[in-house]
Amino acid sequence: MRIGQGYDAHRYADDDRPLVLGGVTFPDHRGLHGHSDADVVAHAVIDALLSAAGLGDIGQMFSDEDAELAGADSIELLRRASSRVAAAGWRLVNADCTVIVDAPKIAPVKDQMQHLLSDAAGGPVTVCGKRSEGIGALGRGEGVVALAVVLIEARS
Ligand code: MG
Repeated sequence: MRIGQGYDAHRYADDDRPLVLGGVTFPDHRGLHGHSDADVVAHAVIDALLSAAGLGDIGQMFSDEDAELAGADSIELLRRASSRVAAAGWRLVNADCTVIVDAPKIAPVKDQMQHLLSDAAGGPVTVCGKRSEGIGALGRGEGVVALAVVLIEARS
């Protein structure tokens, strides 16, 4: 077995793109700046997954200079990363992600988020939403942070 951890942070965008977290779109909330859809939750899980398998990181697999990835659906990027991890002989045992965001509330969409992430990752992914409690840049509403841990085991 191997473990991996992932971290991602995106600041809020100036344009009118929607917020996307864990594959769920929140049309009424300001989106995050990024080359893809800026889904910090999916990105943290991808980084944890690739790290666990010793396959580098999200920036190596998906270049932010790749025009084809502009506005990309990060759930699909997670699916691709998961396929690569599986091809390297690993199976996801589980992943757990914490997203630090004041709004929207994660609880009402937690099941949907977990379903989308689990389906793409090929194993159970749990998500927990936490508020910033007014601390630092997150408390000032400058962006969103996500953290993830992943456990994988060799396919037998
Ligand atoms: Mg990212």
